[in-house]
Amino acid sequence: MKVTDKQTLTAQVVIVGGGIIGTATARELSRYNVDVLLLEAEAEVGWGTTKANSGIVHGGFHEEPGTLKAKYCFPGNQMYPQLCEELDVCFKQNGILMVGRTPEEMETVQEYYKRGTERGVKLQLLSKEELLEQEPNLDPELAGALYAPEGGSVMPFELAAALMENAVQNGVRYEVNAKVIGAWAEGGKKYLETAEKVIEADYVINAAGLFSDDLARMFGDDYFSIRPRKGEEYIFDLSVKDMVKSTIFPVPGKISKGILVIPTAAGNLMMGPTGDNVDEKEDLGTSQDGFNRVFDGAKSLVPGLDPRKIIAQFAGVRAASDRGDFIVELSPNVPGLVHLAGIESPGLTAAPAIAADVPRLLREAGLELEEKEDFNPRRSGVIRFHTLSREEQDKLVQEDPSFGRIICRCESITEGEIVDAIHRGARTLDGIKFRVRAGAGRCQGGFCQPFITQILSRELGIPVTQVTKAGPGSEQVKYEAKELSEQEVL
Ligand SMILES: Cc1cc2nc3c(=O)[nH]c(=O)nc-3n(C[C@H](O)[C@H](O)[C@H](O)COP(=O)(O)OP(=O)(O)OC[C@H]3O[C@@H](n4cnc5c(N)ncnc54)[C@H](O)[C@@H]3O)c2cc1C
Repeated sequence: MKVTDKQTLTAQVVIVGGGIIGTATARELSRYNVDVLLLEAEAEVGWGTTKANSGIVHGGFHEEPGTLKAKYCFPGNQMYPQLCEELDVCFKQNGILMVGRTPEEMETVQEYYKRGTERGVKLQLLSKEELLEQEPNLDPELAGALYAPEGGSVMPFELAAALMENAVQNGVRYEVNAKVIGAWAEGGKKYLETAEKVIEADYVINAAGLFSDDLARMFGDDYFSIRPRKGEEYIFDLSVKDMVKSTIFPVPGKISKGILVIPTAAGNLMMGPTGDNVDEKEDLGTSQDGFNRVFDGAKSLVPGLDPRKIIAQFAGVRAASDRGDFIVELSPNVPGLVHLAGIESPGLTAAPAIAADVPRLLREAGLELEEKEDFNPRRSGVIRFHTLSREEQDKLVQEDPSFGRIICRCESITEGEIVDAIHRGARTLDGIKFRVRAGAGRCQGGFCQPFITQILSRELGIPVTQVTKAGPGSEQVKYEAKELSEQEVL
C-alpha cells in the first residue's frame, strides 16, 4: 500500500456513489452478512442525476430487445410497489400513455404494444375515443394510445434517502462529503483515497454515475466512457395538477423518449426533458431554447398548459455510455471491481433489478454471501401530517406540539416532519426540501427557508452561518443577528 498519513479504514465491499444505483445496491447487500461501506462525494446521498430526473417508473415496453436496459427495466418496474411499501415512500401507480398522432405513429404504437406484451408487460391499446375519455385534456387530434397501467411515479431523492436509511438500519456504513480522488489495486486489495482517508477494500462497486468512467480510469480501466446528455424539465404549481392522470409520452425519437407531460408523485405537473449531448458533465443550466422545445412538445400533447403556472425548472445530465446501453459487469482487468455504469434512463426504474443482480456478480468475483436472518426490509414509518385525518392530527399535536407548527405554508409541512427528516440524515436545506418537500411549493422557500435554517441550526448544534443549501460553499446566512448588530454599531 502507498505510504500515507491519512486515516485508514477497511471494508469488504465499498460502493462508490450514493445515487439510486449505489443506495439500492447498499440496501440489497445489507441482506447479507458482509461489511459494506458507501462513499458519496456530496453532502447527502441522491444528489447526482438521481435528484434531477422525471421520476417515472417506466412501463418496460420502450427498451430494445436484447439490451441490458430491457433486461432490468421491466423487472425493476415490477419490484417498485413492494419496495416503496416496505420503505414507506410515495409511489403513484398512475399509468403511462404513449400517444400516436397519425396512422404511421399508430403503427409504431402497435410495435411497442407487441414488444411489451412479448416481455410480459400489461398493455392495452386505446382508440381515440377511449383515450380522450380517460384523459379529456389531451389534444383532440390525437389518434389513439398504448396504455401501461403498471407505470408510475416516485420521488427519486426520497427513495434514495430511504434506501440508504434502511441499509444503515441493517448494518451498512456510509460517509458523505467523501469524494474518491484516487483509486488503485494492489496485492489483491483495492484502495480508495478521499481527502481525509484511505479505504482498503476486497471488492469495489463503481456506482459513480456521470463519473463512473473517471473512477474506472483511476483503476486503469479505460474501456468505456460516459457521454453526458442533458435534460431540462419545468414544474407547474399544484393548481394544474389534475390536467392529466397518467404520464403522457409521444412516440419516441431516435435518442430519447421525447417530451413528456408528467404528473409527479409529489402532485405537481412537470414537462420535459430535452435530450442534448453536452461537453460538461456538470452542465446543469436551463435555457430559453430548451424551454421553447419543451413547451412546444408538451403543448402539442396537452394544449391547455399555461406557462405562467411554472414555478421551478432544473436540468439533469444522463450518464449515457459509449455502448448506448447500461454497463453492469465485472471489470475484465481488475479482479473484484464491479461497474454499474452508463445508467442513463430508465436507470431509476431499473435500479432495484440492477441492485438485485449485484450479489450474483460479487459471487462470480469470489465473495461468499450468506443471507442474514435478521434483515429488516422495513424502514420506520414517516409522518406526513397533511395526509392524516383531523382526529389523527389533533392526537399527534397533543403528543408532540411541533406537529402543530406549519413551517412550509405552500406544502403544509410541519416542524415535526422537518425535525424527523434531520434525525433521519438530512443535513442541508435541499436535503429537507427533497425529503419532506418543505420549500418545494409555489414560493420556493421564500417564506420558510429562514425558519428551516433555524431548525437545522438548533437540531445539528451548529450556528446558522454554517447551515448550507447543499453542502460546503452554499451557506445562506453570512452573520448571526448578534454579529450583524455589532457591525452596525461599528
Ligand atoms: C432529465 C432526466 C430524466 C430522467 N428520467 C428518468 C425517469 O423518469 N425514469 C427513469 O427510470 N430514469 C430516468 N432518468 C435516468 C435516471 O435519473 C438515472 O439512470 C439514475 O438517476 C442514475 O443513478 P446513478 O446512481 O447511476 O447516478 P447518480 O444519481 O448520478 O449517482 C452517482 C453518485 O456518485 C457520486 N460520485 C461521483 N463520483 C464520485 C466520487 N469520485 N467519489 C464519491 N462519490 C462520487 C455522485 O455525487 C452521485 O451522487 C432520467 C435522467 C435524466 C437526466
